Amino acid sequence: MPDDAPFLPFAKPSISPEAIAEVVACLESGWITTGPRSQKFEGMLREFFHAPSAQCCSSATAGLHMALLTLDLQPGDEVITTAMTFVATLNTIVLAGSKPVLVDVDPATGNLDVNQLEEAITMKTRAIMPVHFAGLPVDLDAVYALAERHELRVIEDCAHAIGAEYRGQRLGSFGDTQVFSFHPNKNMTTGEGGVVVTRDDQMVAAIEKLRFHGIDRSAENEFGQPGTARYDIALAGYKFNFMDLQAALGIHQLPALEGFNTRRCELAERYLHELVDCPAVTIPNFDGVNYPYRHAWHLFAPRLNLDTIGMSRDAVTVALKTKGIGSGLHYQAPHLSTYYRDEWGFKRGQFPGAEDLSDRIISLPLFPDMTNADQDRVIAAVRELID
Ligand SMILES: *Cc1c(COP(=O)(O)O)cnc(C)c1O
Repeated sequence: MPDDAPFLPFAKPSISPEAIAEVVACLESGWITTGPRSQKFEGMLREFFHAPSAQCCSSATAGLHMALLTLDLQPGDEVITTAMTFVATLNTIVLAGSKPVLVDVDPATGNLDVNQLEEAITMKTRAIMPVHFAGLPVDLDAVYALAERHELRVIEDCAHAIGAEYRGQRLGSFGDTQVFSFHPNKNMTTGEGGVVVTRDDQMVAAIEKLRFHGIDRSAENEFGQPGTARYDIALAGYKFNFMDLQAALGIHQLPALEGFNTRRCELAERYLHELVDCPAVTIPNFDGVNYPYRHAWHLFAPRLNLDTIGMSRDAVTVALKTKGIGSGLHYQAPHLSTYYRDEWGFKRGQFPGAEDLSDRIISLPLFPDMTNADQDRVIAAVRELID
């Protein structure tokens, strides 16, 4: 292994020359913010998801926030999500005025354990927010069956899972509401950005206003005059709109996604094969997944066997870095953080599955432009953790 090999990050977006040319063309067009390229990209997304709506916004966090706001949650209302997710999932529940209720995960997959979902439902529960962790679809039949029985909304945090399929159906093409992220580390990017996909017309209308200052340009209100610059303000909205500069990237990323995901899957299969017997790590295990799925492989995140290695995770991170290899931490369980402990009373010990991941998980490099030789360096470095 050459010591002078360039640093291998754990994630890196693949931006084509066509995408760069489109960004330049957008800059030269004189229209940079929300406009024709955003409209075109939203049309492409509607087609991709076979969905009646796809509303782009500044981030998936903004999308989750707005989707929850449209539910008109009251103080004391509860929204159930997973104990192993990025903190944005929990934060948006709080920002929308409700209480986050957590369900533990199966550490083998990182997905919420649907068998523990029903006991988390109370009279106050209004919605379930499953997260398709690392790109593996959650058992949605189980989630939607419970949602139907208890009259709950389902807002899927699909930040990891664009292109993933559950029982042969693409996530975003069925169900209640899905939110996808276009952050640079995700499977496709627009720099920053996100999209809300829903089959709820009222949510679509509400988000249309929420995402841009509460402005209502429809002809029905007293100000509306199509073709004029006049508008009404329907509510105190947010500044969560999406820029044409972002869409310029998205227009070229979306058609490339299938290729990106195929390469991610190849690399992930190779990691699984090469690390299955490596005592340094416990690799994800899908034996318990009893439905057909297509994994989007946003992350390859094994657990470190810290006792065997005889080092802390931080030391492993540094050791890999010394060898020119980046890694990530997805995630520290949010309920262990100061805010969620102090403000919401969560404690270590409540969610052992998530805590085990939180303590031992590490994200190894995985991105479409990574070569097999790059990956060989990572595999060798992980094996060397034992010597
Ligand atoms: C990245 C991520 C988000 C937030 O996405 P942004 O587009 O960065 O706001 C939300 N949930 C999960 C699980 C994520 O990984």
